Amino acid sequence: MRTGIMGGTFDPIHIGHLYLAHEAKEVLGLDRIIFIPSGVGPHKAASETPKQLRLEMVTRAIQDFSYFEVSNMELNRSGYSYTIDTLKTLKKQYPKDTFFFITGADAFLTIESWKQFDVLVKEMHFVAAYRPNEDMDHDATMETLQALISRLENIGAKAISALPILGLDISSSDLRKRISAGRHINCLVSPSTLALIEEHKLYGWKQR
Ligand code: NAP
Repeated sequence: MRTGIMGGTFDPIHIGHLYLAHEAKEVLGLDRIIFIPSGVGPHKAASETPKQLRLEMVTRAIQDFSYFEVSNMELNRSGYSYTIDTLKTLKKQYPKDTFFFITGADAFLTIESWKQFDVLVKEMHFVAAYRPNEDMDHDATMETLQALISRLENIGAKAISALPILGLDISSSDLRKRISAGRHINCLVSPSTLALIEEHKLYGWKQR
């Protein structure tokens, strides 16, 4: 199987994440995508949202798509969530699969600081999605991305696909700010995710 891996804090998961996963599935002909919420990301401060609720938000957000799955493997692991450990588990669980690790360009551009990145890029395909839009210097981003891809290819990277996607300017941190400011997030997260945020009054949710 051609299996996409979509890792992230997902605090909360939003339509930018879901759209990226759909786009990668279609363009790269993936059979399924496994969403893997991070436990404690090595590059990020620990999330205040209980991990069980982040898992539940993802589970609900993907429930209508038969080719999306969710795994709690990183949430159940102690210590930092290193992708190299996730890859080892995935290879044991699905020995016949080919893995495609899906990231946005911002995350991908930091890959040389990831634990054993040289091993990661030799063993998995990487999909680096970039969002050409008016606010960003497209040529400069592409140049940086291409330079990184060349460096990784020089050390034997398996395959790296640069995937152009629509620029949906949504981030989990902006959503958390909007919620705590009492603003709506309708249409930016799936209705089932929104219901969970409301039910558990996450991110300072106030009844409207
Ligand atoms: P995140 O912020 O939670 O976001 C998840 C993914 O969704 C990212 O690739 C992000 O790309 C993308 N995304 C977010 N908003 C989007 C939008 N509006 N449209 C399209 N794409 C969007 O994830 P993260 O913390 O950067 O981590 C990503 C993965 O990398 C995780 O699995 C993490 O464990 C892994 N990682 C591993 C290491 C390590 O092993 N040492 C270090 C760092 C990260 P952008 O970043 O471009 O927004």
